[in-house]
Amino acid sequence: MDCLFCKIINGEIPSTKVYEDEFVYSFKDIAPIAPVHDLVIPKTHVCSANDITAENADLVAKVFEAVPKIAEIEGIKSYRIINNCGDDAGQTVKHLHFHLLGGVKMGWGKESLGKTEE
Ligand code: AMP
Ligand code: ZN
Repeated sequence: MDCLFCKIINGEIPSTKVYEDEFVYSFKDIAPIAPVHDLVIPKTHVCSANDITAENADLVAKVFEAVPKIAEIEGIKSYRIINNCGDDAGQTVKHLHFHLLGGVKMGWGKESLGKTEE
């Protein structure tokens, strides 16, 4: 399968690893938008949040089990988790991933959507 994040998981494409266990891999986003910007992904390929089912939802639980450990590694207690699902939401890599953002005081509201049109 021609998937960038599957290639990162199996080492074909280099990444800066932050955390890894049997089910989850986390690495630095190549274009960070915050002082801490890690991607957290299941090692099993799932295309997007739309493809989460009763059969694979345990992978998402594994991701969220890893999140506090990753935050601790990064030395942050406050952070934001974002999943972009589909084109309008800005999903560019079709392997389920969660952005872990922190290290800065973040705004919340309409502006934080970063809309490209009304
Ligand atoms: P999304 O737009 O939600 O699909 O997020 C994909 C993210 O992957 C973006 O924030 C990119 O900066 C990031 N990205 C793309 N290629 C790489 C790479 N080779 N290593 C690390 N992060 C990457
Ligand atoms: Zn993949």
